Amino acid sequence: MTDLLLKGGEVIDPAQGVRAKLDVAVTDGVISAVAPNISAADAKRVIHVNGNIVIPGMIDLHTHVYEGVNQNGINPDLAGVRSGVTTVLDAGSSGCYTFGGFPRYIVPRAKTRIYCMLHISRVGLSYQPDTSRREDIDLEETVSVIKANKPLIQGVKIRAVGPGVPRMGVEMVRLAKQAATEGGVRLMVHIGDRSIADGDGTEPTITRRLLPLLDEGDIITHLFSGNPGRIIGADGKVIQEILEAQARGVFLDTAHGRQNFSFHVAKTALDQGVRPLSISTDMTPPGRMNTVHSMTEMLARFMALGFSLEDVIRMTTVNPARALGMEDTLGSLAAGRPADISVLKEETGDWRFHDTEGDTLRGDKALVPVVTVKDGEAFSPDWGPRPWGWLPDSAN
Ligand SMILES: [Zn+2]
Repeated sequence: MTDLLLKGGEVIDPAQGVRAKLDVAVTDGVISAVAPNISAADAKRVIHVNGNIVIPGMIDLHTHVYEGVNQNGINPDLAGVRSGVTTVLDAGSSGCYTFGGFPRYIVPRAKTRIYCMLHISRVGLSYQPDTSRREDIDLEETVSVIKANKPLIQGVKIRAVGPGVPRMGVEMVRLAKQAATEGGVRLMVHIGDRSIADGDGTEPTITRRLLPLLDEGDIITHLFSGNPGRIIGADGKVIQEILEAQARGVFLDTAHGRQNFSFHVAKTALDQGVRPLSISTDMTPPGRMNTVHSMTEMLARFMALGFSLEDVIRMTTVNPARALGMEDTLGSLAAGRPADISVLKEETGDWRFHDTEGDTLRGDKALVPVVTVKDGEAFSPDWGPRPWGWLPDSAN
């Protein structure tokens, strides 16, 4: 007996190299079959998705979902199953002294799958600046909270920004790397900082100094930030350290956010061989209303930057699953996997996207969520982040 049958859609699953008109059957929360013309006769529920695309549930590698604790924590399901996303990674909203509420109050109430990066600052983002001085870091407690909370905790997060940078320099990143290593997890580093200048350009930036500390599997987020510490040097060239990190297997995540995405940096870096592996939002309540809007809008932006539909799906499914070392369970529609599925509608029009530097980009493709399935349970989208719903701003 099939619990749920998604019938008539176009399945796009880059993990398996599949793009075809196929039905998807779900039984007991698991994908039971992906095949043409599956009979609806023995399905308890059928959703007709003709004209829509059916992809693995999207994974957002950079969100802030510590709702009610952090000022900028969004409801996990608003960032998640109500917008086409089945798995979110909270990028360091909590530190070792504030993490306890995540497993107690956030995860049990959410329908969306949640993983966390633990902030190297002991109070996470409850207070900013998050990392001002050495005393903000409790290395021992950070490692012990990581060890006690795997697999919910997937790594250590540090923002290489703020007053900690002039005071501690790259030492703060070294401490975060040490916590990650001792905890047996990966490190995620936020680059790009509006609040500090990088001096007169003769000294290497904190970004250039921290990149050599990262190993294969560590994550850089805000790859296309336009802020000081960006990956483009004063000479207009991509810094060598980011190309070396990419070659070593450091995972490059983009995380748009309200302050960290420049179309100019993106185009320059893409032209010079930088290859981002994932698309993520850095979603917060104000971000949902301004600039970022939604995961699907991020996909549309990357299509406007020249990425194909398959590319942007790969960058929100199998690639982020790999970043978490979960490519055997998440990020694909293979039979036997948890039934995490996003149904999207592709729209054609004339839209204008805004980066965080006042620059704009026109695009003719947009995607909107239609229905999201998480562990076999179906969710309809929220009303959308804009007054008219999910579509981007009209170019006219
Ligand atoms: Zn963030």
